Amino acid sequence: MTDTPYTPAPAADFVLPFDLPDVGLRGRILRLDAVSTRALAAHPLPEPGQRVLAEALALSALLGSALRFEGRLSVQTRGDGPLNMLVTDYYAGGGLRGYARVDEEKFAATGSNAAFASLVGTGALAITIEQKGGAQPYQGLVPLSPDGLAASAETYFAQSEQLATILKIAAGPIYRSGEGKGWRAGAMMVQAVPGAKIGDIRTSDDWQRVNLFMQTLEDVELLDTDVPAESILWRLFHEDDVRVQPSQPLRFQCTCEAERVRTVLQSYSKDALKDLPDPDGVIRTRCEFCGSVYEFPLETLAD
Ligand SMILES: [Zn+2]
Repeated sequence: MTDTPYTPAPAADFVLPFDLPDVGLRGRILRLDAVSTRALAAHPLPEPGQRVLAEALALSALLGSALRFEGRLSVQTRGDGPLNMLVTDYYAGGGLRGYARVDEEKFAATGSNAAFASLVGTGALAITIEQKGGAQPYQGLVPLSPDGLAASAETYFAQSEQLATILKIAAGPIYRSGEGKGWRAGAMMVQAVPGAKIGDIRTSDDWQRVNLFMQTLEDVELLDTDVPAESILWRLFHEDDVRVQPSQPLRFQCTCEAERVRTVLQSYSKDALKDLPDPDGVIRTRCEFCGSVYEFPLETLAD
């Protein structure tokens, strides 16, 4: 025991790690509000697409914040459904951004079906970890589950990491007077500690009991900023002597830079660039993640 007073997790935009030492399990719970709202603000998407993007942000923060590394963890879906492009990035230290694209014609053809399976279609979930310093990037690929991102990520952990995992993810729109529509997301994961045999864990009484408790977790608990994260953990795991670690803040972060775009543009000849400028002679590029528009007058670029 230490004498350091415990600081409760904030209402949102945090991840809170915890341990269930008596049963050899660990986990984390998170909630996004301002971060998910900002990350989604740059993307005009139909609501089902926004929901999947908000859930993917939560998933990447859940996975990325568990790694001790300098770099980036990305969650991507690749499918043949209307949601044909989705990528979310978690940067070490708590930064998050995301981008998704929905083919409007294909989406209309599905009868605007909001179900995850019809939105993403058949495809794969890719989890990529890039470390700073040039180490070889790691990528894990699993088939997308028709049951959603959480089910897909459970498969990823079972196949790629041999770790028994239970995951819940929720996202929902929120309407605040004067501020328009925002998005919240919440997620929780319970996982065996590395080294435990996945088959042994899954058949243990403790695992099955914890799994049952996790199934009682409601979306509204994950999303309601009036429900403290510690109260959720206490409700579910007070019999298991749950121990929390300090929460970590999450924030919106985009790594785009005008100079990087300029360098790319400058690698082309004036002739190759001649069709790009607007009528006023300025090339405008837009960052797909944050919506920032960068302006480069053509005469400042090529010789
Ligand atoms: Zn950006």
